[in-house]
Amino acid sequence: MRLQHKTQFLLVILLTVVSWQYAAAQAKKPNVVILATGGTIAGAAATGTQAGYPSGAVTIDAMIAAVPGIKDLANIKGEQISNVGSQDMSFDIMLTLAKRINELGARNDVDGIVVTHGTDTMEETAFFLNLTVKTDKPVVMVGSMRPSTAVSADGPLNLYNGIGVAIDPNAKGRGVLVVMNDWIHAAHSLTKTSTTAIQTFMSPLRGVVGVATYGKNDFYNTPQWKHTTSSEFNVANVSKLPRVDIVFGCADMPADLIDASVANGAKGIVIAGVGNGNMNKASLDAAASAAKKGVVVVRSSRVATGTVGRNVEVNDDELGFIASDELNPQKSRILLSLALLKSRTKDELQNLFTSY
Ligand code: ASP
Repeated sequence: MRLQHKTQFLLVILLTVVSWQYAAAQAKKPNVVILATGGTIAGAAATGTQAGYPSGAVTIDAMIAAVPGIKDLANIKGEQISNVGSQDMSFDIMLTLAKRINELGARNDVDGIVVTHGTDTMEETAFFLNLTVKTDKPVVMVGSMRPSTAVSADGPLNLYNGIGVAIDPNAKGRGVLVVMNDWIHAAHSLTKTSTTAIQTFMSPLRGVVGVATYGKNDFYNTPQWKHTTSSEFNVANVSKLPRVDIVFGCADMPADLIDASVANGAKGIVIAGVGNGNMNKASLDAAASAAKKGVVVVRSSRVATGTVGRNVEVNDDELGFIASDELNPQKSRILLSLALLKSRTKDELQNLFTSY
């Protein structure tokens, strides 16, 4: 063989070996699909120090490209489900997400799913998915408090850690998880507590499920409520949810807000009550009359932490109310909206609030 041919031959062998090795490495890596919905993590401002910015301006492909080393963790595919600030998150988008996750979860070539989302209503979508997805593969939500263009943007590391949790076999079977600022939260327990701080998500009653550190995780807790594969809620054939309103409790609360909800067709009303889910006498009367008409009234609380106990300060048995137990008003609304897809007794409804 002439020298030139020999060199060409060796080059072909080398390239073949390298591409085999590359293909083998790709095949070994887990497969993750990112479903993007918008939010500040996809927000962009004109400068790095600007407080105002439009959410949902950056596409999923640009977000993935902005995270160094993310492709070493997993084979990643991105899909754009929506591109909205989560103040505009709707049941329509939540249903689309749940259905898509159920398709992906059933596939052998998908190991985990990450959802990028705004932080404002993250806890609501997380809880909705926790009740409606039918897979025990990790489903992990991430967002950010600072837009992608900010000095010290928090989105890239949250996304990196989110992928790290989505590929972790220890994350399996813990329900939908939210990874923000290194903490791993259960969908049941987390809530947004600061309008601006990056350490905004807390799980005040139950604590975090674990901690994520640059793609490595420590798990401390397994959420004990029903979720995902043990949940009875199935949205496969659902395209609309019944209307459930939240009425905010306060001193001298006007009771006619409850009447207005009933008049506008609410099938359920969640009271973000004072203290242990309480409300003034006029509102108790209006709520009891709504309950008599068949509207389901759930007492939750505007207080950031603590439970709302059945018959503690209000006689739920007599007035026909449900107590929200650990669920805050926004999560109570999600559970009640799904629960009202079929008819249930008061006892059954109360049971849901202590099981989910
Ligand atoms: N308004 C934004 C949103 O929820 C805020 C955020 O993502 O932090 O989409």
